[in-house]
Amino acid sequence: TKPLLDIHRLTTCFSSAQGIAKAVDNVSLSFMQGETLAIVGESGCGKTVLALSILGLIPDPPGRVTDGSILYRDKDLLDMSESELMHIRGNAISMIFQEPMTALNPVFRIDDQIAEPLRLHQGFGKREALEKAVDALNLVGIPNPAKIARSFPHELSGGMRQRVMIAMALACNPDILIADEPTTALDVTIQAQILDLMDELRERMNGSLMLITHDLGVVARMALRVAVMYSGKIVELAGVNDLYAEPLHPYTQGLLASMPSLGETRPLSPIPGIVPSIFDLPQGCRFHPRCPKAYQKCSLMLPPLFEPEPGRTVRCWLYED
Ligand code: SF4
Repeated sequence: TKPLLDIHRLTTCFSSAQGIAKAVDNVSLSFMQGETLAIVGESGCGKTVLALSILGLIPDPPGRVTDGSILYRDKDLLDMSESELMHIRGNAISMIFQEPMTALNPVFRIDDQIAEPLRLHQGFGKREALEKAVDALNLVGIPNPAKIARSFPHELSGGMRQRVMIAMALACNPDILIADEPTTALDVTIQAQILDLMDELRERMNGSLMLITHDLGVVARMALRVAVMYSGKIVELAGVNDLYAEPLHPYTQGLLASMPSLGETRPLSPIPGIVPSIFDLPQGCRFHPRCPKAYQKCSLMLPPLFEPEPGRTVRCWLYED
């Protein structure tokens, strides 16, 4: 079967006083209908830029998609005009942002905000769209949805606002839902509820979920496959069980070692060092200054993706041959 979304050799650049750099560098990835794929990495690895590139939301300047293709149902999103893309964003691919307070408009009531894309892109009349907005709030488990619908964003709690964001994304019945750190700002209990809710809704819509997170605990709970990104590149792609049972890339191993597990008392060992700036990348493997397994070749040549097992790819010289 064909993937629902097929990203091929995507490159997105940003310019600054320091020059031009690739925030997403030659990334290929595909999504199947109904699956949850997680994109994991520390901040600055390019995962959010990847999502914004899919949606045509890279601010230009300073950013620009410079290469590649993003096929959605056989059409390249990168060839679409802004109005076609707006239609896609209102109908087919929705995004749930990290911070609902910045994504929601503070001066409009909740129902008007949910209803607007329905009127613009799906041809609903005003009254009908407002009714749909209340339905969507109901669907995401908001108590007293008719009352919440008439509120302003600042009147709601963080968890409630995140539910509103999900309602908004889902009201359009998208094929693909992109969630960027959807629960980072929330406390643990609410986090779990929101994740369960997204999973339940994905299943109901038979849609795909692209989950962007730095939290491997969230990934284990939600995803089937995981792509690990580092410095704009995918460094490992695997099924979630394989990845947890035997992470191949030293970076993935480091991420897993720094993840707390239930009842864990030993101190966590975060990966020493920091993610390099995209404007000042190290030569060779971009992870080599932090890698405990680095050897001479690593600082000289960037490793390609190797496929040590079917369905698993890893960008590391240790897996050459
Ligand atoms: Fe470490 Fe070398 Fe593999 Fe890079 S290529 S992850 S530096 S062992």
